[in-house]
Amino acid sequence: MRGTGPDEIRSACPYCGTGCGVLLRRSGAAGLEVRGDPDHPANRGRLCSKGLALGETLGLEGRLLAPRVGGRETDWDSALDLVAGKFRDAVRDHGPDSVGFYVSGQLLTEDYYVANKLMKGFIGSANIDTNSRLCMASTVAGHRRAFGTDTVPGTYEDLEEADLIVLVGSNLAWCHPVLHQRVLAARAARGTKLVVIDPRRTASCDQADMHLRLRAGSDVALFNHLLARLQADGALDADYLRHVSGLEETLAAAHAEDATVTGLTAEELEAFCQLWRRTEKVVTVFSQGVNQSTSGADKVNAILNCHLATGRIGKPGCGPFSVTGQPNAMGGREVGGLANMLACHMALEDSRHRDAVQGFWQAPAMPQQAGLKAVDLFRAAGDGRLKALWIIHTNPAVTMPEAGAVAEAIRACAFTVVSDITASTDTARLADVLLPAAAWGEKDGTVTNSDRTISRQRAALPVPGQARADWQILAEVGRRMGWKEAFDYQTPAQIFREHAALSGIAGGFGLDFDISGFAQLSDDDYAALEPQRWPVTAQRHGGRFFGRGSFYHSDGKARMLPVRHRAPAAAQGRKYPFRLNTGRIRDQWHTMTRTALAPRLSGHLAEPFADIHPQDAARLGVQPADLLRLRSPQGEAILRARITADVQPGDLFVPIHWTGETAPSARIDQLVAAATDPVSGQPESKAAVVAAERWQPAWYGFAVSCRPMAPQAEYWAVSRTWAGHRAELAGQDPLADPEAAARALFDLPGAEVQMMTDSRRGIARLALIQDGRLMAALFTAPEPVAVSRSYLAELPGSCADGVLSGLPAADRPDPGPTVCACFNVGANTILQAIESDGLLSVAEVGAALQAGSNCGSCRPDIADLLARTRFRQAAE
Ligand code: SF4
Repeated sequence: MRGTGPDEIRSACPYCGTGCGVLLRRSGAAGLEVRGDPDHPANRGRLCSKGLALGETLGLEGRLLAPRVGGRETDWDSALDLVAGKFRDAVRDHGPDSVGFYVSGQLLTEDYYVANKLMKGFIGSANIDTNSRLCMASTVAGHRRAFGTDTVPGTYEDLEEADLIVLVGSNLAWCHPVLHQRVLAARAARGTKLVVIDPRRTASCDQADMHLRLRAGSDVALFNHLLARLQADGALDADYLRHVSGLEETLAAAHAEDATVTGLTAEELEAFCQLWRRTEKVVTVFSQGVNQSTSGADKVNAILNCHLATGRIGKPGCGPFSVTGQPNAMGGREVGGLANMLACHMALEDSRHRDAVQGFWQAPAMPQQAGLKAVDLFRAAGDGRLKALWIIHTNPAVTMPEAGAVAEAIRACAFTVVSDITASTDTARLADVLLPAAAWGEKDGTVTNSDRTISRQRAALPVPGQARADWQILAEVGRRMGWKEAFDYQTPAQIFREHAALSGIAGGFGLDFDISGFAQLSDDDYAALEPQRWPVTAQRHGGRFFGRGSFYHSDGKARMLPVRHRAPAAAQGRKYPFRLNTGRIRDQWHTMTRTALAPRLSGHLAEPFADIHPQDAARLGVQPADLLRLRSPQGEAILRARITADVQPGDLFVPIHWTGETAPSARIDQLVAAATDPVSGQPESKAAVVAAERWQPAWYGFAVSCRPMAPQAEYWAVSRTWAGHRAELAGQDPLADPEAAARALFDLPGAEVQMMTDSRRGIARLALIQDGRLMAALFTAPEPVAVSRSYLAELPGSCADGVLSGLPAADRPDPGPTVCACFNVGANTILQAIESDGLLSVAEVGAALQAGSNCGSCRPDIADLLARTRFRQAAE
């Protein structure tokens, strides 16, 4: 461990599937200093803004610290007896399929393993599904159809050895920032070409050689066109095709495809095909833009077809490469944590595999068929088929499509348990029983990242209150349901060894996932385990999958699949004329239960928004900073409009992160229909249909406070600042008494109120002062409030001079909205330095201000500020 300092503990970041290594050092009572692990193969010391801010997200505020039943704290014995009893009774009275688990890519592999074993081997149902169903189930289905098992053939090194990288439906720059930086570094070193295929212009396009803005959902048509063109140009690899079946029918389907449905010009299509054909080393990176579709599995196979037909797989710098969204989505796939998987990549539908797993577990029962996938699982919870549901480390009342209906289903289910670290999520509020779980930094186990590297997550902090590790909770319920021996685990190492031994059975069937080399690992070796890419019996594969064929279908061949374009499921018509695309933003993670605690991560994009094209905004009469109301057949939402040509006319983009806790009107999955891919069961989260209109409230507001606020308006969004909290507000009923509104919002009974009103213009500005310090301030107006938000956000706690102007004094700099979260540098600071110091490049801005010099995620934003300045200077 060359780069590990004294007292530092090696662990792994809990956010995206890049799986960066981190070094943790205790600081203060409950704090951790976090830096990138220079020896971890995924990141070599780099971290993105989210990883760097991990130490700011570890406080106990909002933590669930004791079991609760019916909202009241209780002891573990009572809670666990109740859970075990309810599940046992449901299975006895209604059969094993009357219960379900909905788990998460946040779970460690050891937790996942115990959950899967309990449900599939002992309860005897396959009703365990995971939020990874929303993320990459289409990839799993595509891999299994093509390769015979769910094998990710690529590695991160392939990205550095490729001569062409094609990003399909992946905003790698924001969603896997460290991986993107590896791509850009390779590009700088060897001139790698970069193509982005995405309906939306994203930060990943900043350094791309080509951006193909295809129509939403038309990826199959594009890759079929590519395949047909490759064949027409004689670019197929006859030698490699000896390892592949299905060529003729796949080519027939590809040639029958109409590429005009992509909306791309003939020149764009030709340029892409020629670049692909001319380049030997091609890696196609794909992510949620491919997977979250009613034809997601077909999109995956359309991509795999091109790599298989040209032999661009299994060689350095070549291959299709799915990047996973979550830290342990891959670990979940490995243990079989999906309703249609068994364990260790064995197949639920194969009786030999079922018998082998049952024998290994000495299990009393084994499901004979796939269980309910996520969408169907919650439907079953809502219509009474499920009598008991256990939700672990995930927030489906926000993240599932038709989230409103899912919340109702959870409420309607006879018995719901939620294990989580947070006491008050949208889902936790609906549970009968809450079980406090250990958080990242407190728990111990393994995770697998997108390139199959298994890393240890290690505990660096004590587990607070009564919280427990998930594997402990699950094993305890298993024991209380009557299976004492099978769940007699004392350590995560013991579980890991069992998982590794089981994988040896998979290896015996000739399958890919075989880590049986770890089956005898001692506790000390487990504690010291270095990052390790599987298979650990690498000599069987020459360390690389599929270089010489050896696929996992019974004939040893890969299968090319004839697939055809299908339009997204929801029909678009006059009533719902917009296509709604959803996705992540740079500095937030999922439903923000952790990232929202870090002020630096909230400064970049502090409230939910909808990106709308300028033509559509003009047609709807939407001005910058107006609010937009979106309606779909499933629900509605209100968000801030951002007018930008980054989206195409007729398209909208909205982030997924906001919840009932942070912006109740912006729970965007309320609008998304639960249409799913017929093969993978993955919902179509990228192409819902909505109507949009300007929402005109009676008043708008902006507030800052030292303390949490209690907003009551129709629209509100709260976020963290270094000085406390900020809120955007808007209400439909006229604000008759601004002071009363401020008192209700801030709950500061002893504070003195300073107020400035302009009744003619409908403006009110209030400051609440205590002991000469500003405690809170509220600004209201009949139009979007025009004040310096970044300046005001940092005022609470300071002396209150001049606050009611809403603008900084001439001698006080206003940093502007955060651009660089790593070094907390605002847009105004950067613009000023560009002007005053004559900075000409992103590198010069980095040298002057540090901005953009760490994770690099903000470099596109800095480039944009440079371009704006140049444009303005040229116009002057
Ligand atoms: S890229 Fe960022 S979020 Fe992803 S694992 Fe690395 S540090 Fe964590």
